[in-house]
Order: sequence, then structure tokens, then C-alpha cells
Amino acid sequence: MRIDIITVLPRLLESPFSDSILKRAQDKGLVEVNVHDLRPYSTDKHKRVDHYAYGGGAGMVMMIEPIAACLKKLQSERFYDEVIYMSPDGESFNQTMANELSLKKNLIILCGHYKGVDERVREHFISREISIGDYVLSGGELGAAVVSDAVIRLLPGVLSDETSALTDSFQDDLVAPPVYTRPAEFDGMKVPEILLSGHEKKIEEWRFEKAVERTKK
Ligand code: SAH
Repeated sequence: MRIDIITVLPRLLESPFSDSILKRAQDKGLVEVNVHDLRPYSTDKHKRVDHYAYGGGAGMVMMIEPIAACLKKLQSERFYDEVIYMSPDGESFNQTMANELSLKKNLIILCGHYKGVDERVREHFISREISIGDYVLSGGELGAAVVSDAVIRLLPGVLSDETSALTDSFQDDLVAPPVYTRPAEFDGMKVPEILLSGHEKKIEEWRFEKAVERTKK
């Protein structure tokens, strides 16, 4: 899989991809994440990428020209399954959407900033708009990192134990059961007996019961 993220603040996306699971996924060649700085695509002599809103009002708007130029370049190089715009009024991101996106080959994620992008970008260039929740962030970068993380960890080979993603919350419409590790007792707080029993079938039943209980709650 290949993910191309377009942003005016590429530095904001350095750390989420340079550690742990997401870094290993790239090192193993299972995903390629490319972050594109929008500024060089501006034809303006001051390399500006935003301007005042027509009709007035507070806040700058990201201009269509540099975005169009960047998209055109990327799309001339390969086919993209989706051109995503991160937006608070987009579809709410969830596990089903992460599963669906993990089956795609090439994705573009456009991050807005300031007041957002010129509406013509949304109307003509975007195939999907995704929100990570009903609140407003300063930019789409953190959202793009959230979406990429949720998608990348589902790619075969990314998690060392392939079944791990399947037992996470939401995969079967249930949230995950509680988990424990060593020591078996800490300051009188004990790990449920059943988990130490070695009885696989009973443990599985217990986990299922707990997952149902938590989901109902
Ligand atoms: N004026 C816009 C908010 C702009 S916030 C409005 O009221 O809807 C600046 C940028 O941050 C947006 O263009 C978007 O890319 C990103 N953003 C903000 N909140 C987000 C959210 N909840 N989910 C995804 N992206 C978000």
C-alpha cells in the first residue's frame, strides 16, 4: 500500500510514522508513506498557499491552485483509489472504514489548515471526506495520522501476530475483553483465576462473556 499525504506542515507528520509499528511496516516494505509539502506547488512568488476568503470574514482559505498542481502530479504517476480530505464534517471514521481502506492500493490524504480548503477542491477533486470526531482541530495532519495508523496496522504482516488485529475492539462489533500480565497478584489485586488455568476453551468463553458485558455497558 502507498499513502501520500499532502500538507502545509510536513513536520507535523514526522513523528507518527517514525516509531514502533508504523515504522516497522515501512521498513518491511509493507507500506510506503510519502508526505508532500504543498508550498513548492505554489506558483506565487512568495509561495503562498492560502488567501483571504471571498465575501470577507475571519480566517484564511487554502487555495485551489497548489492543491490541483500537487494532485495532478501524483495522479499522473499512478492511479489512486481514493483522494481523501480530512474534514470535521466528513464521514465519521470507524473500524469498518479502516478495514475497507486497508484493502486499497494507493491513497491520497489531503490535510486542510486555517479555515479549510477552497470548496471547489472538495467538489471536484475529492472522492471521500473523513472526520475523526465531532470537534475541530487546527489541521488535518493529526487526523491523517490517525487514519493511516488504523489502516496500516491492518495490513497483513504489519503486526507480528496476525490474529492480534482481529481480537481488537470493533472487529466483531464487540469491544475487547480485559487483559492482564505479570505479576499474577499486585498489592492484593488478583488476575482472574481462569486466565491462569491454561484451559483454552474456558478462557475463550470467559473473554467472550466479558467482551459482551463491556459492549452492553
Ligand atoms: N472551518 C472548518 C474547520 C477548519 S479546521 C469548519 O468549521 O468545518 C482546519 C482543518 O483541520 C480542516 O480543513 C481539516 O482538514 C482539519 N480538521 C479539523 N477538524 C477535523 C476533524 N474533526 N477531523 C478531520 N479533520 C479535521
